[in-house]
Amino acid sequence: MSVDLQEIISRVPTQLWIGGTWVDAADGETFEVTNPSDGSVLATVAKAGEKDAQAAMDAAVNAQEEWAATAPRERAEILRRAYQLLIDNTDDLAYIMSAELGRALPDSRSEVAYGAEFFRWFSEEAVRISGDYRIAPAGGARVATIRQPVGVVLAITPWNFPLSMGTRKMGPALAAGCTMVVKPASNTPLTMLYLAKLLHEAGVPDGVVNIIPGSASAASSLLEDDRLRKFSFTGSTEVGQSLHAQAAKRSLNTSLELGGNAPYVVLEDADLDKAIEGVKVAKMRGAGQVCIAANRFIVHESLYDDFCSRVADLLSTYTVGRGTDEGVTVGPLADENQVETVSSLVNDAIADGARLLIGGTVAELDEDLPVDGLYFPPTVLADVPRSSRIAREEIFGPVVAVYKASSDEDALSFANDTPFGLAAYVFSENLERALSAGESIQAGMVAINKGSISDPSAPFGGVKQSGVGREGGFEGIDEYLETKLLALP
Ligand code: NAP
Repeated sequence: MSVDLQEIISRVPTQLWIGGTWVDAADGETFEVTNPSDGSVLATVAKAGEKDAQAAMDAAVNAQEEWAATAPRERAEILRRAYQLLIDNTDDLAYIMSAELGRALPDSRSEVAYGAEFFRWFSEEAVRISGDYRIAPAGGARVATIRQPVGVVLAITPWNFPLSMGTRKMGPALAAGCTMVVKPASNTPLTMLYLAKLLHEAGVPDGVVNIIPGSASAASSLLEDDRLRKFSFTGSTEVGQSLHAQAAKRSLNTSLELGGNAPYVVLEDADLDKAIEGVKVAKMRGAGQVCIAANRFIVHESLYDDFCSRVADLLSTYTVGRGTDEGVTVGPLADENQVETVSSLVNDAIADGARLLIGGTVAELDEDLPVDGLYFPPTVLADVPRSSRIAREEIFGPVVAVYKASSDEDALSFANDTPFGLAAYVFSENLERALSAGESIQAGMVAINKGSISDPSAPFGGVKQSGVGREGGFEGIDEYLETKLLALP
């Protein structure tokens, strides 16, 4: 099937979505969105500054009371329609994401399914927001609680999942009765602007969701606005922590989904077929640019050589190319910084003594790839020293770095030797051993004998410096509700 990418992109709005109207930035500023597959300019988008952020805030504040008072069933029906519209527009959304992010189409299609599901899941939660009623233990008093929407939300989202990092916040916020100002990443604003159009079509009232691509500091200036009641951020640990400090000055209710350094632990009695299969999702999805991507492959010495050669065979089957071309399984990285970061981590690891099995340099790639594309080849490094920088920092690229472990204790102590605690993976055919490893790993999420973790019905989030709060699952809506006590005689 031949697809006219320019035609799809031409249907994406390029203005700000504020109060149910498409508007230019107040000062007329714009920025370009480029395609990492070839460096071409996809669109020129309005760049929100502080005046626009304030206008979006005003619109969200004006809509808050009525949206909170809207019947839960009605909010649920709107979210259900939004789910269906996303599914009906899967191809458009997948092509838009693959164009602005560079990611391979199969990964973008699966993100549409994942991202849409947050609307369906939270449409089902919207009608189950409950309080409770108790008799005080001493008698003579009753305790009733109700749960109310927290109020206006500022959501800031990253580029690596342009759709679902937004819907994972919008689903529960809208279900709870909150209005929002959303700032998408500057690399990938088109997906969110297209989503605004679909939300309008689904019946989300004007002002309930406002989308302001543009200046990061304009968006964060809203943290100083007393009318803001909730801040939800997904992105790097460094930026998240600095915004958290800013939000703390007003004791603002804050949720953070930050970076990780996920261990992928293959114990002595693991089934190697499962451990190799798991790499496809845990590492190669989105060319490794995923917060829960396995970062350190910690393999028992008895399986080590087999694992290394089989994972190199697996990665050599991937086809690198333009994200929007059918048949491509690894697209380019999102921007030049990513290519530099990944290259320097790999080069330092080699200088530290790691053995390069495949990939490693851009020169390894097919010379027919567009010259201005930001490609990096699937790469496997064996015998990586634990002291190497690549063991401590998020790789965010299609690089498997393999470390040798001598025992469960050795593997698990290395797994926990990080300030991060987002995701982890454990492989063992012994249920008790796998569960005990899962319990001892310091992470918010542990996958056992598989490479996939994310599911809209499951609580997603980290411990240690990987974040605060949970998104998705029954827990996800709690982040947007306050419990109020009604003390009764
Ligand atoms: P980032 O640089 O922290 O940017 C994330 C968002 O914050 C973008 O919208 C960015 O806007 C904005 N931003 C940057 N500096 C800001 C500032 N000073 N004030 C206000 N906003 C600011 O992260 P990224 O590179 O986009 O995303 C990759 C990171 O996100 C990785 O570390 C990854 O692990 C993490 N992540 C975590 C999860 C999770 O669920 N835990 C999920 C996905 C990604 P601009 O684009 O305009 O700079």
